[in-house]
Amino acid sequence: MRKPVIAGNWKMYKTIGESVDFVKDLRARFAKVDHCDVVVAPPFTALRAVADALKGSNIAVAAQDCHWNKEGAHTGDVSTSMLWDAGCTHVIIGHSERRRDHGEKDEEVNKKIKAALGSQLFPIVCVGETLEEREAGETEKILHRQFTGAFLGLTAQEISRIILAYEPVWAIGTGRTATPEIAAESHRLLRELARKQFGDEPAINLRILYGGSVKPDNVGGLMAQPEIDGALVGGASLKADSFAALVNYPRT
Ligand code: PEP
Repeated sequence: MRKPVIAGNWKMYKTIGESVDFVKDLRARFAKVDHCDVVVAPPFTALRAVADALKGSNIAVAAQDCHWNKEGAHTGDVSTSMLWDAGCTHVIIGHSERRRDHGEKDEEVNKKIKAALGSQLFPIVCVGETLEEREAGETEKILHRQFTGAFLGLTAQEISRIILAYEPVWAIGTGRTATPEIAAESHRLLRELARKQFGDEPAINLRILYGGSVKPDNVGGLMAQPEIDGALVGGASLKADSFAALVNYPRT
């Protein structure tokens, strides 16, 4: 059985003080949660303080990006060993906003995944097509390119440490969610790509999250799909009530 993951990507929101107050609230609310793994991804500036505030809790801390080099002349970048040092256990890699705003390519995503694995971090790897690509009937081609590019040269053992997130770009921050069926179809495709590259067992065990305008009122339908193993959430992860409603999604 794949344990679901509910992960909150805070993007460029919250000061250090706001972040700490927020996670103290979450920590109390989620003390008894064990039906899913909970991850929060604050901005870089708040990572250390959030990790300290969550020490010994059941909430994991992720960074939103990393560089692939251990150290060096890379102004503005942060390495995976620095993230580990700051208290992270996870790192989001290849988010569409990084691809869009920073021209991040599959090749860089691949190098970042390898660096994260080398620092004992769990990568949360994002893939997903744009609206133009979907309308041009290219979803399968794009997912194939992003998947094989991201996971080039990885072993089955390494894939077992990775969480994949299907995030159709047209659904991120737009209020336009993929229907559970559309999301599940892409998840099936991604799992088949995993099976071809890594074999049956790693593919069956791979957790694939859906991301794109997940809200308390649509999380139940999405999570009811056996192919959907959780959610990567932006907007609705920023308020304790809505994030708590997502973590406590309807279960039968
Ligand atoms: C995201 O940031 O990965 C995301 C899915 O954002 P939102 O939930 O706001 O669409």
